Amino acid sequence: MRAMVLDSPGSALRLAEVPLPGLGADDILLKVHACGVCRTDLHILDGELSAPRLPLIPGHEIVGTVAAKGEQVERFSIGQRLGVPWLGHTCGHCRYCISGRENLCDAARFTGYTLNGGYAEYAAADQRYCFTMPDGYTDAQAAPLLCAGLIGYRALSAAGEAERIGIYGFGAAAHIIAQVACWQGRRVFAFTKPGDLAGQRFARELGAAWAGDSTTAPPEEIDAAILFAPVGALIPEALRHIAKGGTVVCAGIHMSDVPGFPYSILWGERTVRSIANLTRRDGEEFLKIAPRAGIRTEVEPFRLDEANEALARLRDGRIRGAAVLVMK
Ligand SMILES: [Zn+2]
Ligand SMILES: [Zn+2]
Repeated sequence: MRAMVLDSPGSALRLAEVPLPGLGADDILLKVHACGVCRTDLHILDGELSAPRLPLIPGHEIVGTVAAKGEQVERFSIGQRLGVPWLGHTCGHCRYCISGRENLCDAARFTGYTLNGGYAEYAAADQRYCFTMPDGYTDAQAAPLLCAGLIGYRALSAAGEAERIGIYGFGAAAHIIAQVACWQGRRVFAFTKPGDLAGQRFARELGAAWAGDSTTAPPEEIDAAILFAPVGALIPEALRHIAKGGTVVCAGIHMSDVPGFPYSILWGERTVRSIANLTRRDGEEFLKIAPRAGIRTEVEPFRLDEANEALARLRDGRIRGAAVLVMK
């Protein structure tokens, strides 16, 4: 099969002919139809996430159909459409796993990072971590639901009952989560890179009550903020704008260092927290909500062999919505 392969961090992906993945008893072989391109992939390529398997096939927003099954696979049938997310394996018995927090499992393995992912014509995945995908989405439209949507949803949940939600960084996750927040009756305040007028217009089209530069203050206090941009300096920036009792949720897996800030902007029972990975329950919940909330995803399609181009455009902020590799 053809795959885009990372040989070592800091290098471009290489188009290669590689053997089909072998299947364990619980594994499914998927014919990959589409795979989303996520900012986490950039952190892996850049060596900011330091423990990838190598060589690695990246990609953790995989939509495909079952082409073959291991002998214990009963949940799914040949030809069925499935989604494969970032969480690819957990131990099932550590303190985190048995308390509903498998996203924190110390022995977890991750698709497209410590397991091979979906920048390929075929991918293997453990059936226990796959999702059935909602109808009404093409393969390409469904792919961003699997990380941008899912982890964005976990971040939105961590913001609690906040009515006025600030979103920093208006990329793939934000464009989905803004729609969920509006559907839940919240008001969205979108913060983009300074001068990104196209991004601000996009946010307003998706229902944002206000959109502006990340360096400016919103027109009123906000109740919580979600940071999708991997910029640590935005934490004190967001803290200055949230009301007492509000939370700043950091949704990315990597961030630049957080500068020092005065305690007074944290005072008033404000909270700063991160979101790590996902649980299968997050996935089941969000994939039910997405069609009910009428979530539309906007995608820019690329061919498999254009993965480097897609990643470069994501890095430069030149993607509207989500970049997706489309294999068929
Ligand atoms: Zn991701
Ligand atoms: Zn565990």
